[in-house]
Amino acid sequence: CPEADHDESYQKDITLAIVKPDAFLAAHVDDIRQEILHAGLQIKAEGEFVLDKASAELFYREHKNRNFFPHLVSFMSSGPVYVMLLSGRDAIKKWRLMIGPTDPEKARKDSPLSIRARFGTDNTRNAVHGSDSHESVLREMGFFFGNYTEESRTPADACQPVTVQ
Ligand code: GDP
Ligand code: MG
Repeated sequence: CPEADHDESYQKDITLAIVKPDAFLAAHVDDIRQEILHAGLQIKAEGEFVLDKASAELFYREHKNRNFFPHLVSFMSSGPVYVMLLSGRDAIKKWRLMIGPTDPEKARKDSPLSIRARFGTDNTRNAVHGSDSHESVLREMGFFFGNYTEESRTPADACQPVTVQ
């Protein structure tokens, strides 16, 4: 775990990455970790988690009315995931660029070197997650690494993963 870091920029330049069950099962965690580090991002906290259905529903609750929601929830709770809190300049944007479009087919056309192009299968099984905004980062890192508030959280606090069962 890193030392507590009170640098203000830390608060903004973080994002949450998840290696989803398909890529975890296909043993891509190490490759993806290496790509993250080579891209100049730091990994501030990380851990393996198993989501039960209720946790997957909660994590993706913004999509609860979409027709793909049941597939998404059963996929995300079908096996372990690997969660990483990333830090670095423009981390949210940088990681979203690295992962590519949601649909791996589109990714293979538009962004063939992206992680979803290379490791994704279909719209549901698309290998990785990346937060889409700073608000999402705060909510999502709280979900995996404990309650987050701008005042109370430091990177060190984020280093005690809880198992979401
Ligand atoms: P993301 O931010 O690129 O991951 O995409 P969204 O936030 O829109 O959707 C969350 C996740 O739901 C995606 O990563 C996919 O796993 C799944 N998903 C999104 N759109 C679709 C869809 O049209 N069909 C299916 N089957 N799954 C989808
Ligand atoms: Mg999203």
